Amino acid sequence: MKDIALYHGDRQGWVEVITGVMFSGKSEEMIRRVRRALIARRRVQVFKSDLDDRYAGVGRISSHDGSGVDAVPVRSSFEIAELVHPDTQVVAIDEVQFLDDGIVEVVEALADHGVRVIMAGTDMDFRGLPFGAMGGILATAESVDKLFAICVVCGNPATRNQRLVDGRPAPAESPTIQVGGAEEYEARCRRCHEVPAEDRAQTSLLDALASDPTDPLVLTHESLRVPPARSRPISR
Ligand code: ADP
Ligand code: ZN
Repeated sequence: MKDIALYHGDRQGWVEVITGVMFSGKSEEMIRRVRRALIARRRVQVFKSDLDDRYAGVGRISSHDGSGVDAVPVRSSFEIAELVHPDTQVVAIDEVQFLDDGIVEVVEALADHGVRVIMAGTDMDFRGLPFGAMGGILATAESVDKLFAICVVCGNPATRNQRLVDGRPAPAESPTIQVGGAEEYEARCRRCHEVPAEDRAQTSLLDALASDPTDPLVLTHESLRVPPARSRPISR
């Protein structure tokens, strides 16, 4: 993976995002970048949403393979703004999808003041819809790395978070964030991702696509043929 740190001068602000499905290696990559910043003797502060306490308690960023770095749990983007020291050079934020929309403004301000901001978060909720402020975060960052996991059903690259409750796919109506719920997650590809009782808007869109008699311009291989050049009158 490209090493963005290479392009940094001392006080050049920058926002980078590591995103993708769960199990895709976001935390591993975040930990790698933080460790390299420490090797480079940068002053680093690490935060994570306090909603995530899956692996090692809330005071640490941990990957599924067990490596980790210490992190300060935060409830809101405002808390991050308050806690960053003036001489901090790198701010890392994990599980950023759980934070409020204000995070976009906070990281913009940090980068404007010369801070390198590294964020990791899953881009879609269990329904396959944009998660919280992730749309704005991805749009405003200088750099985005979107990682794949492996679909546990078919072995293809996985991009979707499959929520399971008692081993069964969770319905679309269940809440986006279930704190302390009994649900489990799997990484799946688009084809194997299941969201039962799915939202009517999407179903009716699919029906409309299937039945719509209007014929929009459909490009085929034939469309590649360049029309013969028209002879142009020679003007004097
Ligand atoms: P994330 O932060 O994106 O949830 P982690 O960095 O915590 O991901 O974990 C990534 C690790 O999870 C991989 O290196 C691999 O060892 C393990 N893993 C478990 N299940 C899968 C899967 N379905 N696809 C890819 N990696 C997986
Ligand atoms: Zn699959």
